[in-house]
This record gives sequence, C-alpha cells and structure tokens, in this order.
Amino acid sequence: MAVRKGRSPLEILIIGGGIGGLCLAQALRQAGLPVTVHERDESPEGRRQGYRLRISPEGEEGLRACLPQPLVDLVVATSNRRESAGLMAYDENLEEQWTPSFDDPRGDRPDRIDAVDRVTLRRILLAGLGDTVRFGSTFERLERTDGGRIAAHFADGTVAECDVLVAADGVNSRVRAQLRPQDKPRDLGVRTVFSRIPRTAAIGAGLPEILRDRFSYVIGTDGHHLGLMPMVFRTRPTEAAARLWPDAGLADAEDYYMSVFNVHRDDLGMAEADFFALSGEELCDFVVKRTAAWHPDLRGIFRHALPEESFAVSLRATHPVQPWEAGPVVPLGDAVHTMPPSGGVGANTAIRDAASLAHALADVASGARELTDGVAGYQQEMVRYATEGVQMSLRIAQWSIKKVDVEAA
Ligand SMILES: Cc1cc2nc3c(=O)[nH]c(=O)nc-3n(C[C@H](O)[C@H](O)[C@H](O)COP(=O)(O)OP(=O)(O)OC[C@H]3O[C@@H](n4cnc5c(N)ncnc54)[C@H](O)[C@@H]3O)c2cc1C
Repeated sequence: MAVRKGRSPLEILIIGGGIGGLCLAQALRQAGLPVTVHERDESPEGRRQGYRLRISPEGEEGLRACLPQPLVDLVVATSNRRESAGLMAYDENLEEQWTPSFDDPRGDRPDRIDAVDRVTLRRILLAGLGDTVRFGSTFERLERTDGGRIAAHFADGTVAECDVLVAADGVNSRVRAQLRPQDKPRDLGVRTVFSRIPRTAAIGAGLPEILRDRFSYVIGTDGHHLGLMPMVFRTRPTEAAARLWPDAGLADAEDYYMSVFNVHRDDLGMAEADFFALSGEELCDFVVKRTAAWHPDLRGIFRHALPEESFAVSLRATHPVQPWEAGPVVPLGDAVHTMPPSGGVGANTAIRDAASLAHALADVASGARELTDGVAGYQQEMVRYATEGVQMSLRIAQWSIKKVDVEAA
C-alpha cells in the first residue's frame, strides 16, 4: 500500500459507480490506495444507461491505464467488430449529405477498439472490485470535520470519513449542487429518444446496406435527426469472460443498433411533462409517426425498436468548464463537464479524468506532491481537454441536429 511520508494512508471515497468512478477505483486499487465507491443504484443493472458507447483513442488509452491487463483484453474481446470507419450522413430520402472528414487514428489495427456495449463495460469495470463498491448508498451532503477530513452523509443515515472525496456522481451531481450550484449544465433544448433495435430484425426489415455497418446520421429536412450505430460483438460476452475473467458476471447480448432520434422541445407537439411521461411503447410510436414520410427502408426499422429499451433524455452541456477549489473534494466526469452525446466523448473524457486523477493521487499518497498541488495539476489539464470536448460536441450537434440552443450553453 502507498503511504504518505510520516502520515497515515490516503483514504479516498468516490461518490458514483458509473464509468468514471469505477475506472478510478480500478486504477487506485492497482496503485494500492484504500478506496470505497458509494453508488446509489441497488445493483449493477440498476437503471437505463444507454447502450452503445463510442470509445475514442484517448478513452482507450485511459482504459488501458486504469485496468489490469486481463480486463483490458476482455474489453477488446467484447468490443464492436468494426466494418467501416467514419461517419456517413443522408437526408430522409437517403440522398448522401456532406460530412466532416477526419483521419482514422486506428487505421486497420485489429487490437484497437471503437465502441463497446455500456452494460458489458460496466460489468467489466466492476470485476474484482468486490465490496469496494457499496450499492444502494445514496450520497446526500458533505461537511469538513475539525480534523480537516471530509464527512459524507448518506440517505440511510450512515456517515463515512475520508481524506479525499471524488465527485463522480454524473450530470445531476449532488456534490456539485452543494458546492457549486452555479455550474449546473445548461439545457440545449433537444429531446432525444434512445432505442435498441436488434440487428437481425433491422436487417430483416430492409435496413439498406449503406446504413448497416457504420455510424450513420439521417438529417431530415423536416427538422428531425436520427443517429444509427451498430454494435456487433467481436466475441459473445459470456464466451470472452469464460476465457479471460470467469467471475466478471457478463450477460449474453445479441448484436444491435442503437438509435438516437432528436427533436427540439418546441417541435414536440405536446407539453414536455407529457413527453417525459410517455412509456417506451409510446416513445417508439412517436418516432414511427414522426418518420412516416421518410424513405420506406428507414420507416420499417423503427417498428422493431424494443419498447422496454427505449427512453427519453434532455441534452445538456456545461459551458464553460470551471475548475473547483483545489482541495480534498475533487470532481470527475459529467459532474464537472457534461456534454451532449453528439461528439461521443463524454464517457471518454470521464475515463481520461480517472487515469489522470489516479496518477495525481498516487503522487500525493507517496508524498511526492501536496494534495492541493496534485488536484490543481489534474484540474488544469482536465479543464483544457474537457472544454475541447464540450466545444466539439456542440459543433457536431449544431451541424447534425441543427436546432440546438447553443447560446444557452
Ligand atoms: C444515451 C447516451 C449515449 C451516450 N453515448 C456516449 C458515447 O458513445 N461515447 C461517450 O464517450 N459518451 C457517451 N455518452 C456520455 C456518457 O454516458 C457520460 O459522459 C458518462 O457516462 C459520464 O461518466 P460519469 O462516470 O461521469 O457519470 P455516470 O456514468 O453517469 O455515473 C454517475 C454515477 O453516479 C451515481 N450517482 C448519482 N448520484 C448519486 C448519489 N447521490 N449517490 C451515489 N451515487 C450517485 C449514478 O447512479 C451513476 O452510476 C452518452 C450519454 C447518453 C445519455
């Protein structure tokens, strides 16, 4: 275990066992630092989390830095079997549209990943952590103790003390609400219906070849926007886990498309409260009706969206990204830099934060740096790359979704 010179070990408490919090826990465990994660979900399956996650080269580098090698191998084995790189865009009649071009940093490297299944990733991030993660533990508030430590209070009445508290509690962060309410992410006005569509059903319903194997956008002239992303497992998760980490508890999943249907709140045709009260089945109906005039090959696939796996969210962004006071309460991920999923970088940025913060905390624990110095250094870099991520995500949202309240951000 790493020990600060002449002092007791640095005790770290993470609020939130999402992507960033679990990556950090894995990295700290590898560095031998005592860490506990408090997660409000009752279990790993707790809630709707979305489906496919694009992984950027920076996110992949962060995963490799945080995880032990067998778990890295498991991420690679269960990642998306990429057929085509890049993004294609069409209008609702399937006429090809201009798209921004970019260099594919992975080239044809088969060991590199471009997307993963989110539920599979969360299971992998939990592997080996055991009772480091306390499920069903909802953070309520914190206070500083007379001894200069942080006391975290939980909804079940328990209190835990630590030297460093990491706010990894996501877009609606309670820690941020207590300490920095002014940093609340702004509403971009876009409402999104996320769905999962089984791949075999979508292809059987006539999904055109051009949309099958790559990330595609349909930018409707009617103000609606659709993103369609394939998730084709390289190896079935249970098969890969049996070989690499049998206790990972991975569940089998069939190949699918994640569909993302965007509409501005002014064009919902109903009150917002009514929209968010729609059931999964009603949300699927909403998309089917809104695309009734689209190319017939596109219309058919929505009838196969799984209602129980369809849900609505509001797109939000933190702008500008601001550092917190450099001290024992440190933010990470969406809690400090929320961005719309249009750029596919929110989770990647949280993973990058985890790798960088773990490094800084290991230096503090070993006595090589003071806490304020380590936290300030981490935040300085984080604010720089997170700001780039937010700006890039907003630019892509403006190009593809068109009607976005960016001036609010
Ligand atoms: C549908 C969708 C698709 C996306 N696609 C992509 C993509 O392709 N690529 C990409 O990079 N990003 C994507 N993102 C963004 C990405 O999901 C987030 O940026 C990422 O999850 C942030 O990680 P995080 O650890 O900060 O927060 P989260 O992963 O949200 O984790 C926060 C955790 O804190 C817990 N929590 C919250 N409050 C409390 C509390 N009071 N007490 C205890 N625990 C608490 C929550 O239950 C949760 O587990 C997408 C987002 C959405 C909604």
